[in-house]
Amino acid sequence: RPLLEVSQLVKRYDAGKPALDGISFSIRKGEFVSVIGPSGAGKSTLLRCINRMIEATSGEVSFEGASVGLLDRKSLKRLRSKIGMIFQHYNLVERLTVIENVLHGRLGAKSTLAGAAGHYSREEKRQATEVIATLGLSDHLYQRCDRLSGGQKQRVGIARALLQDPRMILCDEPIASLDPNASRNIMEQLKRFSQEMDIALIVNLHQVNVACKYSDRILGVNAGRLVFDGRPEELTPEK
Ligand code: ADP
Ligand code: ADP
Repeated sequence: RPLLEVSQLVKRYDAGKPALDGISFSIRKGEFVSVIGPSGAGKSTLLRCINRMIEATSGEVSFEGASVGLLDRKSLKRLRSKIGMIFQHYNLVERLTVIENVLHGRLGAKSTLAGAAGHYSREEKRQATEVIATLGLSDHLYQRCDRLSGGQKQRVGIARALLQDPRMILCDEPIASLDPNASRNIMEQLKRFSQEMDIALIVNLHQVNVACKYSDRILGVNAGRLVFDGRPEELTPEK
């Protein structure tokens, strides 16, 4: 059974052309999938429909066999704890420290009152410290995020997602604001976690060469439709 199954997904924001116009695919555990396509193709809408940040107009998304559209609030929260998110602009709380931001992700998943007040258990802090270390940010544990470089901020974003212990991470243009070195670092980190922890990744990218280099599979989206679904080699047979 696939980890994620998307069937005939349609999203209309308004009376015009739909942002998603009947998209179907499924994703296995641990698979690294890049979604490529021009700006406005529907990539971001697709990710936001998968974890129900927005409601699809029709079609179905199933995660671990459960229909995402039918989940009640409590089950939706559980679902979101299994699906991490990483954003182009990091979505960190800039005036908080690295460890606070990473723990804050856990708060999102668990929403404990203690967490809201900034009190975390020793065990939670230990886990956060460990994840931050695996991303090479130990020296910045108590540094405010507004003092970090873009690449460092995105590593905080990855650490925050990983602390949830997710089965899948949705990455919306994770390297679009980064220089080539930082981009390479982020893609390598993502690849490493996908392989070592068997986490499925769906990564929206506009650089086709980067998508081909790191992913197992490419989905090409244009005008809300799936126009390609295959291995990187099939996309660039001349290479
Ligand atoms: P991409 O991520 O590939 O750039 P998007 O999913 O952001 O594409 O956008 C797909 C289409 O949906 C675009 O035409 C965009 O203008 C439109 N769109 C995206 N978000 C909204 C919204 N909140 N309201 C109305 N239209 C939207
Ligand atoms: P992106 O970086 O994905 O291209 P945009 O700058 O297009 O993002 O969109 C930023 C925000 O505006 C998003 O939350 C998106 O949902 C919303 N948005 C995008 N297109 C439209 C639209 N045509 N009408 C209303 N909101 C939109």
